[in-house]
Amino acid sequence: MSSAQIYRGHVFHIAGAPDVQTADHHLVSLPDGAVVVDDEGVIAWVGSAADLPEQYAALPVTTAGFLLPGFVDAHIHFPQTYSVGAYGGGQLLEWLENCIFPAEARLADPAFAEKIAADFIDRRLSVGTTAAMVFGSAFPVAQDALFSASLAAGLRTVSGRGIQTSGPPAAKPLMTSEAEAIELVAAEIECWHGRDVLVRPERSALVQVAIVPRFSLSTTTETLAALGELYEDVRDRGVYVHSHLSENNRPGTGEIAAVRATYDVEHYLDTYDGLFMPGSTRGGSSLLGRRTIMAHAVHCHDDELARLAAAEASIAHCPTSQLFLGSGTMPWRRTIDAGVTVAMGTDVGAGDEWLISRVLAAGYGVHMTEPGDAAVSIGPAELLFSGTLAGARALDQEQLFGNFDVGKEADLLLIDPERFPALDGAIAGGIRADDEDLAARQTLFALLNGLREPAISGVVVRGRRVR
Ligand SMILES: [Zn+2]
Repeated sequence: MSSAQIYRGHVFHIAGAPDVQTADHHLVSLPDGAVVVDDEGVIAWVGSAADLPEQYAALPVTTAGFLLPGFVDAHIHFPQTYSVGAYGGGQLLEWLENCIFPAEARLADPAFAEKIAADFIDRRLSVGTTAAMVFGSAFPVAQDALFSASLAAGLRTVSGRGIQTSGPPAAKPLMTSEAEAIELVAAEIECWHGRDVLVRPERSALVQVAIVPRFSLSTTTETLAALGELYEDVRDRGVYVHSHLSENNRPGTGEIAAVRATYDVEHYLDTYDGLFMPGSTRGGSSLLGRRTIMAHAVHCHDDELARLAAAEASIAHCPTSQLFLGSGTMPWRRTIDAGVTVAMGTDVGAGDEWLISRVLAAGYGVHMTEPGDAAVSIGPAELLFSGTLAGARALDQEQLFGNFDVGKEADLLLIDPERFPALDGAIAGGIRADDEDLAARQTLFALLNGLREPAISGVVVRGRRVR
């Protein structure tokens, strides 16, 4: 399905397996670089084109201005494909009721579901999101359309139907009984977990399934207990867990206050950790593990961050969404210092950008704007790490993709700045330091900040050109 190929251009990637604090030391910049992909879609060699081994000299060459690893979106809502820029006149809970629950109810219609799935996959191809944790629809017909479209396109998708057994009247069309919720998730796992176009181990297939309670306010103690039981049965197969955590902190009426009041727990995270009975006592099995991704985690207590790190769970950081819904700013230093993997999420539709590099640029701005000593200027290599390798790690698929290390499957973006004049100007005409290492970082920063869809001229997954 793929044939051996050389991709040539200015290569940027984060080699090896650093954490975000050491990513800068692992930045590779090869101004005239080459990535050799074998006929299995695996990276066989990477280096300066001038050093290309003789054995590859006859392979076909595709040239671009820049080569980056494919972007990983660790949190995006498929049923909200048409909900970017939805005006709800408020923060999270108002926006859900006024805009999102009604929009998501439309996916019950199979024809609508088919169309929105096709458009969702097209958007991902346009912005180079080669792998994603996709928050799914309540409706199996829509999830079937999503997984089918993703497989046909050759993208990497982890997703699961959004589980709601409790909620306001506007959420009624998305809700099921407790028993049906569990039956539908179990059926989705049996149907889609580990599906691929090639023969691959279940846990490294293109398509995999997650258990996705919308958030603790959409479930009950009974739901959480049953999901914990189900997860115990399937976690060894590589089934994921995905949800929202500590997003809106409005005093009294916001999400976090409502979760703590509803469950009478000390910390929001307790509800996902099996500790969802009053006083944070145990009511079932934990949903936390190395295949668990929690979106937002804006207002976490240190105990919650420590627990996420201990469980090897990850955070999907969504600064564009947090700006749009007024959710506040995840404290960058405190969160990464806790040792939790922080990947980036668009959180479309609360997030108003599909392109992960736009989310990185927003992250740069909001963390520069954190109060006092918390203000931080995130470096270009840390940004690239967060949008690529950290996402692969959050998905527990770092051994497969996330950078251009030899032996990984080739997921890459071809970028041609001249297709977008503002980027072209910043690359060709921007000031650069005399120091070569600093100049490379300045170029990477300009690239990540100035990148827009038109400049992405090609997308490759597993060595296969998918766009
Ligand atoms: Zn979300």
